[in-house]
Amino acid sequence: MPELPEVEAASRVAQRVAKGQVIAGVEVLHAAQRRSLPEVTAATLVGDVVRRVTRRAKYQLLHLGSGRTLVVHFRMAGDWSVMRRGAPLPAHARVVLRFASGRALALVDSRALCTVELFPTGVAPLPDLGPEADGEEFTATHLREAVARRSGAIKPLLLDQSIVAGVGNIYASEALWAAKVDPRRRARALSVAELARVVAGVRRVMAKALAHPERYYQSGSDHLRFNVYDREGAPCRRCRTPIRRVVQAGRSTYWCASCQR
Ligand SMILES: [Zn+2]
Repeated sequence: MPELPEVEAASRVAQRVAKGQVIAGVEVLHAAQRRSLPEVTAATLVGDVVRRVTRRAKYQLLHLGSGRTLVVHFRMAGDWSVMRRGAPLPAHARVVLRFASGRALALVDSRALCTVELFPTGVAPLPDLGPEADGEEFTATHLREAVARRSGAIKPLLLDQSIVAGVGNIYASEALWAAKVDPRRRARALSVAELARVVAGVRRVMAKALAHPERYYQSGSDHLRFNVYDREGAPCRRCRTPIRRVVQAGRSTYWCASCQR
């Protein structure tokens, strides 16, 4: 489940490979991706040039010379595989962007849930998004105003991209552990001081992951660095109380019932 830090690392890979490159061919290899990028649309990409690649929330935006924008979302399991000239297709390749240089970017995704969509010039390609989770606009004041209009617990609301952009299921649990805030608390009932701790917790886990994105990215089984995520029954790293798990809005939440209040 790539979140802001992992998508940021991926967008830098795409920028390194694709920036300034003329698109020589686009292959859409799976029916799921043809829904958002039909082959007839993909064919119009040939000859266009990738000016730059940016990231917003968990979206990667390939800004094209024609003014159009190609928007990539990894969803649960997507990733880039960089291909050299003549290299065979990697396993689970769903969309391949081939460049005139001979290099290619393969979007690999074992679950085939990733999306690639082309937006015409002048059309806003992204939905309403809150401030970036690692950005200066994500403050306790913003969070208080955003949750004041909503009901529900703080943890599912951290996954709402219109409140804060880039947080996913793993880092929401980790951030609330860092903040010492119970994920089941009603968000509206949190004090400004508690919301400030939540913001600081989000920033801390994002900064740590941005500094070491490869650790999560290269190994799906390395849970050692998480403090609570996927550690049900294991001792809390602060107080040794066994970590608990609860399902909120269909997603697992992990927390310490002793030191998160
Ligand atoms: Zn604890």
